[in-house]
Amino acid sequence: MTKDSGSTYDVHIIGGGLAGSEAAWQLGRRGFRVRLSEMRGTGERSPAHQGDGLAELVCSNSFRSDDSEKNAVGLLHHEMRLCDSLIMSAAATAEVPAGSALAVDRDVFSAEVEARLSALPNVDIFRERVDALPDAGMTIVATGPLTAEALAGSIGQATGADSLAFFDAIAPIVYHESIDMDVCWMASRWDKGETKDYINCPMNEEQYLAFHKGLVEGEKTSFKEWEANTPYFDGCMPIEVMAERGVDTLRFGPMKPVGLDNPHWATPEHPNGRWPHAVVQLRQDNKLGTIWNMVGFQTKLKHAEQVKLFRTIPGLENAEFARLGGLHRNTFLNSPILLDRTLRLKSAPHVRFAGQITGCEGYVESAAVGLMAGLMASAELAGREWQAPPRTTALGALLSHITGDAEAETYQPMNINFGLFPPLHDVKKKQRKEAYTGRAKDEIAPWLEGLTPA
Ligand SMILES: Cc1cc2nc3c(=O)[nH]c(=O)nc-3n(C[C@H](O)[C@H](O)[C@H](O)COP(=O)(O)OP(=O)(O)OC[C@H]3O[C@@H](n4cnc5c(N)ncnc54)[C@H](O)[C@@H]3O)c2cc1C
Repeated sequence: MTKDSGSTYDVHIIGGGLAGSEAAWQLGRRGFRVRLSEMRGTGERSPAHQGDGLAELVCSNSFRSDDSEKNAVGLLHHEMRLCDSLIMSAAATAEVPAGSALAVDRDVFSAEVEARLSALPNVDIFRERVDALPDAGMTIVATGPLTAEALAGSIGQATGADSLAFFDAIAPIVYHESIDMDVCWMASRWDKGETKDYINCPMNEEQYLAFHKGLVEGEKTSFKEWEANTPYFDGCMPIEVMAERGVDTLRFGPMKPVGLDNPHWATPEHPNGRWPHAVVQLRQDNKLGTIWNMVGFQTKLKHAEQVKLFRTIPGLENAEFARLGGLHRNTFLNSPILLDRTLRLKSAPHVRFAGQITGCEGYVESAAVGLMAGLMASAELAGREWQAPPRTTALGALLSHITGDAEAETYQPMNINFGLFPPLHDVKKKQRKEAYTGRAKDEIAPWLEGLTPA
């Protein structure tokens, strides 16, 4: 329990990063009393943070594309601005030239967030570390991917250790529409025709050997010092580490071809087709069926290497990636099963989660989930029914992914991307991005009118 976490405040927000600061702003400007607890400033910091300012950007100084016509993250910027986002307005104050991207002077940005929050009379900022989930009182936990150990333990206890991951082991995710189904085929291993759950990409021996060489020789990113001793979990072994163990290791692991007749290779002697030398399988990653993950392909290859190498896989020559693979330390919940549609822990509804700990990925996405958590808490405190943003908007698509649309079994942190939006198959591919953003802009307006007034 925190000191004095009782009745003087309407909400206790734990973590003054991007999500916590945004949530505090949304609540504070609506007149609710907020206690914001941030452990930096007590002499303690996560291994990635360098300073004590609120909303510190731990790595890049970019909020990525600001193009709201053709880019999903740019659309998210736009929608957050419509919600009077603190993070977006502080970014405007701190902006530095970066072409079509939105980049900031990180010190000016952090100082602006802190100044504007401190100026709200009903938001109190405490420099304190919280070591356990409060037993009662409305709480928003926004402690990020590097949540301090004791609190992570308390969250683990409340959610079940299996539901709290400490590593992203991300396999690349591919847009379905960019996969060549004249080369690939749908089947499950030893398919008898009843379940055809996987997309299979066939490789002959020559293709496999070249691919194996590419994995072993490709340039990898290195672990940060504080990540280096964290062991791989079962099932999280990077694909290139497996490849280094022997030329055939992958053919007995994630690229196993047995039981997979390729109908495109059918001959009169083999009417059902033949088993390839190796197979890359993709599994559906969201309920919409728009994005598919490459099974077992978590990797630390550099992003440019991944694109180059994975486009040598038959059927993926023109693959477009919703996200590339990666492996780094990250505390996050299996939100699709643990949280309700308003980001509250089903087993302890006084606790709501926000930011990257919910399984979104990125500065903007974390702030956006903080913004929605603040709006949800405001609605609850005002006794109003919370209306979720339409799922055709970037806010709605992100929220739907976190709270139900993503597959819980393979849940991994995700950036906003058009694959999370309800598809517009009828629109020509060239015009689709504008169609997604145009639809979102039309549909967000009525939702904004229903928000708890400031
Ligand atoms: C090393 C690293 C690099 C990253 N680089 C990028 C990047 O370049 N671009 C990008 O878009 N995203 C990046 N991310 C991903 C992500 O966007 C950021 O981590 C983002 O800051 C997450 O926002 P958040 O508000 O959820 O968490 P944070 O911004 O980390 O905020 C959490 C806050 O909670 C505090 N806290 C933690 N535990 C406690 C406790 N027990 N009590 C009180 N306070 C506590 C922390 O001190 C921190 O201030 C990176 C992540 C990591 C780990």
